Amino acid sequence: TKTPSSNFIKNIVAEDLASGRTKEVVTRFPPEPNGYLHIGHAKSICLNFELADEFKGRTNLRFDDTNPVKEDVEYVESIKKDVEWLGFEWDGLFFASDYFGEMYARAERLIRKGLAYVDDQTAEQIRESRGTLTAPGQESPFRGRSVEENLDLFGRMKEGEFADGTKVLRAKIDMGSPNINMRDPVIYRVVHAHHHNTGNEWCIYPMYAFAHPLEDAIEGVTHSICTLEFEDQRPFYDWVVRECEMPWTPRQYEFARLNLTNTVMSKRKLKQLVDEKAVDGWDDPRMPTISGLRRKGYTPEAIRAFCREIGVAKSYGVVDERMLEHFIREDLKLKALRTMAVLQPLKVVITNYPEGQVEWLDAENNSENPEMGHRQIPFSREIYIERDDYMDNPPPKYFRLFPGNEVRLKHAYFIKCEEVVRDADGNAIELRCTYDPETKSGSGFTGRKVKGTIHWVEASNAVPSQFRLYEPLITDDVEEEGQSFLDHLNPNSLETLNGFVEKGLLSSEGGDKYQFFRHGYFNVDPKDTTPERLVFNRIVSLKSSFEV
Ligand code: ATP
Ligand code: MG
Ligand code: MG
Repeated sequence: TKTPSSNFIKNIVAEDLASGRTKEVVTRFPPEPNGYLHIGHAKSICLNFELADEFKGRTNLRFDDTNPVKEDVEYVESIKKDVEWLGFEWDGLFFASDYFGEMYARAERLIRKGLAYVDDQTAEQIRESRGTLTAPGQESPFRGRSVEENLDLFGRMKEGEFADGTKVLRAKIDMGSPNINMRDPVIYRVVHAHHHNTGNEWCIYPMYAFAHPLEDAIEGVTHSICTLEFEDQRPFYDWVVRECEMPWTPRQYEFARLNLTNTVMSKRKLKQLVDEKAVDGWDDPRMPTISGLRRKGYTPEAIRAFCREIGVAKSYGVVDERMLEHFIREDLKLKALRTMAVLQPLKVVITNYPEGQVEWLDAENNSENPEMGHRQIPFSREIYIERDDYMDNPPPKYFRLFPGNEVRLKHAYFIKCEEVVRDADGNAIELRCTYDPETKSGSGFTGRKVKGTIHWVEASNAVPSQFRLYEPLITDDVEEEGQSFLDHLNPNSLETLNGFVEKGLLSSEGGDKYQFFRHGYFNVDPKDTTPERLVFNRIVSLKSSFEV
């Protein structure tokens, strides 16, 4: 793999290695298994794994599973699959929940040091008493509890004596701190819930801000990379590591999370789309999940190249989704077989072509990559063309078919539209054309020129296929009062067309990728393709004005 472009975190790592603070770089990717990974996670995955790779270090995959209610093994499995698919191998595979025992012991140590206390206030009271940016916090009436009483109460919280929400353990720091995160944050709460890994062993769970620095320290993580929202948490992160007397001191660094235009990128919202059945599961090709992108036809190479290109910034920005599209076009340009598919068929009968005859024409497989060779495609008296390659009354500069006009059929002959067969409403349902045998592709014919070239598929060999074209799921992700983002769903995010592809594609398997002449890049849908009907997902159209 290409080395990541220079970024500020890389510079920090290089300095730490030079100064000897770090002997071996250890990073981690720490997803909470409460949903499927999305393209934003891919950025974090690439950053962590590539950083460690570059300096010959290690990266752990750690499930940050400290919240029993939302987590599930289905998510654990999907996350492992996605990280592997992206092309990365983790060093250790860990679950934060495996450290619950140690975390509990560290919390007890804080209590013994007079640095944590059990608070009986409600969540609401605690929130209010923590104050605001301009108003200092108010100390809890339970803040003065003795070490003995706190140890006793914390033990009884663990034993299940108290109901959810009736008691919490709080760090005892500074209710007057300008940083609200330092105003006695909650570090343990009571939750009587089954945990996907520890079952019913625990009914108290550590809060993320307390658990995360401990997890990093336990694993010997050197550079703990997270998104910018956690910048204000860094003082507490360092406090936890120091006051819990962890034998190893990890350091936290923040970078801007990825946002993409026209893309919802929060697991909470993505889960809502799945639960409300607005999409066909987490891997619906319209989803920005890794599994959705994979099913749509994205390759790991394209996603990694995209993540490298966007780099690591310290400030927020929204990346144009066309940049992601640029990288899949680049990846497939020289790899994908270029073939013909008719998405909205209109039958054409070539009246002067012998009945019952099929001839095989030579076609190059990729005009930009001669190494891909050639194939033979059938041609006969009946073919399909694209419905909008014919018009009764064309506007100026329309060079495709209309009564009396001649076009070139890609890889075949010139045909001329002589007659139009119509249904009762007057719509064209069949064209009757003539062809000129002299104009055969590759014959060097120069007698006359035509301005339009269209694609086609020979009718008797055509393979019935479905094509799925996608548009953004959300048109305008602005939540107005009393509305959900689900009210902004794009009703046209999926268009399904039924047409034909060349016979050679019949043996395609899920995940095979093609370029369809004039239509773009398509992926054989791995779920819905059957022996009777191929299903193609459009990955991206051919053209874009976007340049990187
Ligand atoms: P979401 O808000 O979408 O639910 P999250 O941050 O809660 O995401 P986690 O499972 O906690 O999801 O994330 C695992 C790692 O991925 C974290 O280190 C987080 O910083 C990183 N990450 C999540 N979303 C993005 C993003 N959009 N861009 C970059 N990194 C991200
Ligand atoms: Mg999170
Ligand atoms: Mg989240």
